[in-house]
Amino acid sequence: MKNIVVIGAGTMGNGIAHVFAMNGYQVGLVDISETALEKAVATISKNLDRMLKKERISAEDKANTLGNIQTATSLATVAANADLIVEAATENIDLKLKIFKQMDAVAPKHTILATNTSSISITKIAAVTQRPDQVIGMHFMNPVPIMKLVEVIRGYSTSDAVTKTIMDLSKDLSKVPVEVNDYPGFVANRILMPMINEAIYSLFEGVAGVEEIDTVMKLGMAHPMGPLQLADFIGLDVCLSILKVLQDGFGNPKYAPCPLLVNMVTAGKMGVKSGEGFYKHIRGSKELIVADQFNKNKTALV
Ligand code: NAD
Repeated sequence: MKNIVVIGAGTMGNGIAHVFAMNGYQVGLVDISETALEKAVATISKNLDRMLKKERISAEDKANTLGNIQTATSLATVAANADLIVEAATENIDLKLKIFKQMDAVAPKHTILATNTSSISITKIAAVTQRPDQVIGMHFMNPVPIMKLVEVIRGYSTSDAVTKTIMDLSKDLSKVPVEVNDYPGFVANRILMPMINEAIYSLFEGVAGVEEIDTVMKLGMAHPMGPLQLADFIGLDVCLSILKVLQDGFGNPKYAPCPLLVNMVTAGKMGVKSGEGFYKHIRGSKELIVADQFNKNKTALV
């Protein structure tokens, strides 16, 4: 493993590129949006500066890391030498199937095709390729440079050899991989998303306000972040997509997304990435300010 391609330069893609590049891999970072690529490189540079300030890396490490990343708006230009492609594009099944068909067509025969999907079936994704034994889930956690876990998801046809390669590779990135099987939401989101959805229902039904719900979970359950703040951080559109996958996959109404979440996504309130979700997010500020919609004097339904 030497050459890695990361598809999608959003919240997760920039972190995945950062971690591979910092560990000496050559990274091709691909996005359809030139702006997303520019933003991703700026974010990686800013995150490296933070590490430099804490003396966790040297100025030379920073320069080497950035030097290991090449950006492109077309997969074909960087895929020719890829040993591994990690797809981290938008959480949408039709899009992922289209991208995997393309990955399978342009990547060399030996290339492992991985997806960072939070919930979509690895088996379904693998089925559109000619190499289902070389398709696997490599689910990094957000923020990637900090979080230790990689959930490694075996599809129905994923081979033992490919699983071992990805487990070993994750360890090489100083991560802790955990092997799981391919069922909706895998382990992480099967447990996390119903909790986030229930927190949104609690707000929707007026049980408590945004800060109160998050404080109960932070101080009462020792969670580092409340579920509504975490939802903003993950992206409300991503949360909605995952809940729909759980609802469809299990056919169980207990996973139905809260109507408030649906409304917020429809209104373009995606959390940190759009500047507003349950909280207002001002670039460069860490202050937590509840969004006007959820001010104490208003109910969530207003
Ligand atoms: P995001 O919306 O921040 O970024 C997605 C990026 O994909 C965008 O920059 C978009 O331009 C790009 N894109 C869309 N179509 C593309 C295409 N055809 N080719 C190349 N790029 C394309 O999304 P995200 O939060 O980074 O999520 C990416 C993946 O990671 C999803 O599958 C998501 O479920 C998963 N994930 C997200 C989180 C999280 O906390 N956000 C955590 C773990 C896993």
